[in-house]
Amino acid sequence: MSTLAASSSLGQVPVASLDAALRTASPQEVIAAALQAIGRERLAVVSSFGSESAALLKVTADVDPAIPVIFLDTGHMFTETLAYRDRLIEILGLRDVRSIKPDAAALAREDADNELWFSDPDACCRIRKVEPLARALAPFAAWINGRKRFQGGLRAAIPVVEQDGTRVKFNPFANVTRDDIAEIYRSADLPQHPLVAAGFRSIGCMPCTSRSDHGEDERAGRWRGRDKTECGIHTVVTSAV
Ligand code: SF4
Repeated sequence: MSTLAASSSLGQVPVASLDAALRTASPQEVIAAALQAIGRERLAVVSSFGSESAALLKVTADVDPAIPVIFLDTGHMFTETLAYRDRLIEILGLRDVRSIKPDAAALAREDADNELWFSDPDACCRIRKVEPLARALAPFAAWINGRKRFQGGLRAAIPVVEQDGTRVKFNPFANVTRDDIAEIYRSADLPQHPLVAAGFRSIGCMPCTSRSDHGEDERAGRWRGRDKTECGIHTVVTSAV
């Protein structure tokens, strides 16, 4: 076990120095550094298999296709997303994709009619995303995600490495541009999510996703008409849930 992996189990990862060292690193360099420092058995990628997810998954697969990938299957996913997940697993050779479902008892208790997304979307995200992710991440000391600064909002100032409760969170795409992502898709001939051609630029759960115009923020189609802009997996400390 590396020194960092040993210290991460004690909550002593030098996050600030890691962030400084990786501030201008490429996504591949960040993921390779995370793998080297944390170890595969303690590191997971979290992916929505959405409109830009193939870029992060491609870079991950290039570093190590056996890094665990967590997908939150909320029960409200587009069928196109589930099919895209399966297609990317095959194309990229991802060897450990874990599709995580909400707790059945929580659904029966709090969302028996499947309409909580309408009456209380924060509660819906809690039982369908935040709590399942917290359970899924329990064995891991660090996680990787695909947020970009160019997405704006709360994402405009994310570091490359940050503390997330007792875990470390790596944001290898923090610095990338839309052109960088387009180049990853082009050079690897990656398929687009099937809903991109239909005008969906950011894709989450079906009831809370709509098309967005190119004059809008790309996440404007998420929870349209509400104040909500994030599901909570990046704004609630998952290790504290
Ligand atoms: S995005 Fe919408 S449907 Fe999905 S968990 Fe959140 S509120 Fe529920």
